[in-house]
Amino acid sequence: MIIGAIEAGGTKFVCGIGNEKGEVLERISFPTEQPEKTLAQVVAYFEDKQVEAIGIGSFGPINIDRASPQFGYVTTTPKPGWANYPLLPELQKAFDVPMGWDTDVNAAALGEATWGAAKGLDSCLYYTIGTGVGVGVFVEGRMVHGLVHPEGGHVLTRRHPQDTYEGKCPYHGDCLEGMAAGPAIEARWKVKGSELPADHPAWEMEAFYIGQALASAILLLSPKKIILGGGVMHQLQLFPLIREQVRINLKGYVAAEALDTGIDDYIVPPGLGDNAGLSGSLALGLRALAEAQA
Ligand code: ADP
Ligand code: ZN
Repeated sequence: MIIGAIEAGGTKFVCGIGNEKGEVLERISFPTEQPEKTLAQVVAYFEDKQVEAIGIGSFGPINIDRASPQFGYVTTTPKPGWANYPLLPELQKAFDVPMGWDTDVNAAALGEATWGAAKGLDSCLYYTIGTGVGVGVFVEGRMVHGLVHPEGGHVLTRRHPQDTYEGKCPYHGDCLEGMAAGPAIEARWKVKGSELPADHPAWEMEAFYIGQALASAILLLSPKKIILGGGVMHQLQLFPLIREQVRINLKGYVAAEALDTGIDDYIVPPGLGDNAGLSGSLALGLRALAEAQA
């Protein structure tokens, strides 16, 4: 069984094929340019692949409401050419196979729950801390959609008492993304995050913000696992700092072994590594195929 997977990112598109075991058999990537040009590359890639279904995890915001006439559109992105672009409908014109469609982070959460760090669990959260902050929400065996889709990267957090940085989010200033995404680290410390030493105070401040957001998410959604991915989380020293901040914020109120002695196994890096995005799209494609056959 060959399933197509598309990780549609604002910076690059990754396309690949894989199988029902979650094995990615091949992948290519190209920069995200004008939609027509990018779509032509996607279509050319899949033309001779004989895929039985395709899963697309997309940058957003996107329309995932099946009842909407704009279902499958990228909606209000500032990315030139992409606002109100019918990404899924254009793909459906090119390939007559079942297609799964969701946010990139919801797809990554599904992939991790299918084959990765949350394998076998019916709930997990997937955070990407990169150019932005995004959160995929997988609860009771399905991705949460709701009104639009969760936008957990923009939750509000208390400011760190020593932090004078105003925040980088164009909408909210000092929301989680505005304080903790890669560009905020760079703007605050005047050097790229990847160049800051592991014992720099930046990481304690970073964990202060992420830990608060995670504690709120635990209180609200009670996820069985939290997976932290994205470029910034390559700083592995963040994991123990974040776990500590989660405990400080929860103060023992939520009685769960996972938040106590089990916390090292509760807040974890992606089991699928940097393949989490593409594998998630693969899982979406598989789900779409199963639904079509049901
Ligand atoms: P994107 O979010 O665009 O998909 P990434 O997840 O790779 O891509 O995130 C890119 C951001 O992560 C940039 O702001 C970059 O500075 C930051 N970043 C990448 N690698 C590291 C690292 N090793 N340490 C700290 N920050 C990093
Ligand atoms: Zn924001």
